[in-house]
Amino acid sequence: MSNLSLDKSKSRVIVIGAGIGGLTAGALLAHKGYSVLILDQALVPGGCASTFKRSGFTFDVGATQVAGLEPGGIHHRIFSELAIDLPEATPCDPACAVYLPGEVTPINVWRDPEKWQAERQRQFPGSEPFWQLMATLFAASWEFQGRDPVLPPRNLWDLWQLAQAVRPSTLITVPFTLFTVGDALRLYGLGSDQRLRTFLDLQLKLYSQVNADETALLYAATALSVSQLPQGLFHLQGSMQVLSDRLVEALERDGGKLLMRHTVEHIKVESGKATAVVIRNQKTGEVWTEATDHVVANVAVQNLVQLLGQAPPGYKHRVEKLPQASGAFVVYLGVDASAIPPECPPHLQFMYDANGPIGENNSLFVSVSHPGDGRAPDGKATIIASSFVDPAPWWSTDNYSLLKQKYTDEAIARLAQYFYLKPETIIHQEAATPRTFAHYTARDRGIVGGIGQRIPTFGPFGFANRTPINHLWLVGDSTHPGEGTAGVSYSALTVVRQIEALK
Ligand SMILES: Cc1cc2nc3c(=O)[nH]c(=O)nc-3n(C[C@H](O)[C@H](O)[C@H](O)COP(=O)(O)OP(=O)(O)OC[C@H]3O[C@@H](n4cnc5c(N)ncnc54)[C@H](O)[C@@H]3O)c2cc1C
Repeated sequence: MSNLSLDKSKSRVIVIGAGIGGLTAGALLAHKGYSVLILDQALVPGGCASTFKRSGFTFDVGATQVAGLEPGGIHHRIFSELAIDLPEATPCDPACAVYLPGEVTPINVWRDPEKWQAERQRQFPGSEPFWQLMATLFAASWEFQGRDPVLPPRNLWDLWQLAQAVRPSTLITVPFTLFTVGDALRLYGLGSDQRLRTFLDLQLKLYSQVNADETALLYAATALSVSQLPQGLFHLQGSMQVLSDRLVEALERDGGKLLMRHTVEHIKVESGKATAVVIRNQKTGEVWTEATDHVVANVAVQNLVQLLGQAPPGYKHRVEKLPQASGAFVVYLGVDASAIPPECPPHLQFMYDANGPIGENNSLFVSVSHPGDGRAPDGKATIIASSFVDPAPWWSTDNYSLLKQKYTDEAIARLAQYFYLKPETIIHQEAATPRTFAHYTARDRGIVGGIGQRIPTFGPFGFANRTPINHLWLVGDSTHPGEGTAGVSYSALTVVRQIEALK
């Protein structure tokens, strides 16, 4: 509508989606003087990193822990550039307590590197050479990443950014480009260490969506090392929503606009260039076309193809050929504090049947609130347990409610092996399935987390921020998968630099 129109005296940017990727890109561009309009179909910004409130509890929808808050970390860098305060946060230590099938004491992934080294040497005797390789590759990859390479490059400018980030120290990673974690385990004679493999499968699946045999080694080096100092994982004070709220503040301070409950239905392309989007106001049903100089799509790449209608055939084909992405099943519990065992770590991971799958409730990633963190009233707590699931059955079943109830009961029964969960301690319970995620985040079939980090789709072989259509940019976890809010912020930063380079 004309009263919502962008300021034509400036370069105009429409951002589709107010996830952390879209908000970060929008806030940075507004700060640099662009006329920015962010549209989101949901009620609240933040997408998979937003929250909802029930019976006095605040639940984080998806993301519960944050990387990149340390000095030099990606959120830290972006918040400094935007001159907004970083949210208050406590470091997670251990980052995770992992319970393998049939075991009653956890493997604690400590924040202190030496403590973690001692723990893993005790837990997995003989595996240290593998971990040392991971540490070496991580050090080189992290420095490389810190120099803001553009990966994968799609034109000469991108290639130049990539070349400038390479140093002699980066070259150590090159021979391992086509290695999986499974290959590295075999290299060190650890291929048949089932316990180590289960631990790695569990931890890697959280990030890469695939197990150790399939996960690209260079990707795994970061995923397995980022929870130790000087990096680390953090639990935000208040809730995850604070991250989005701060970005919205910066956006609006710098003249940008955010419209919730507005769905982008189509991206218009003329002569190979994105020129406008078709917007539907969900409250009034009004539909209009808004012209723009750039479109930043903070959507899954599968959604991007749908929004284009006529996507370039090669791009469309590549998206259609992607292996099935994961969905998530999440149980949100508001409980009496007596349900939580003493000294309970903030994040735990459980696997139940050693022969069962990773995911599908056979493994649960659990986040527990702590007193005073803003998520539960005094004397109460929140428990959020998630599991990767195949989204397909959730769409094909003719008894969705029954399937949801079955998963909910099963997850609570499994959680009750650790927490004291009885009718008298559970105050609120609720679950989200791929259908729920599709509804609230508009992600195709409710897929989450991005694209599995196998060799053909990781880093240099992944989806680029630069799409085959001029002035159409992709931000979010399809381009930086599995690294959560930190990864999508990095994707936003790259797009902002690419747009700026066109000036
Ligand atoms: C269960 C679960 C647990 C997780 N745990 C962690 C964790 O602990 N730490 C971590 O860092 N990450 C975690 N993640 C991942 C993290 O939440 C995501 O990677 C990240 O938040 C994705 O951000 P995004 O900006 O790419 O997209 P999204 O969060 O998906 O945001 C996209 C936004 O676009 C909007 N949108 C989509 N299509 C349209 C359209 N056509 N028109 C208008 N609006 C549209 C949606 O409403 C949504 O708000 C978890 C994810 C899940 C599901």
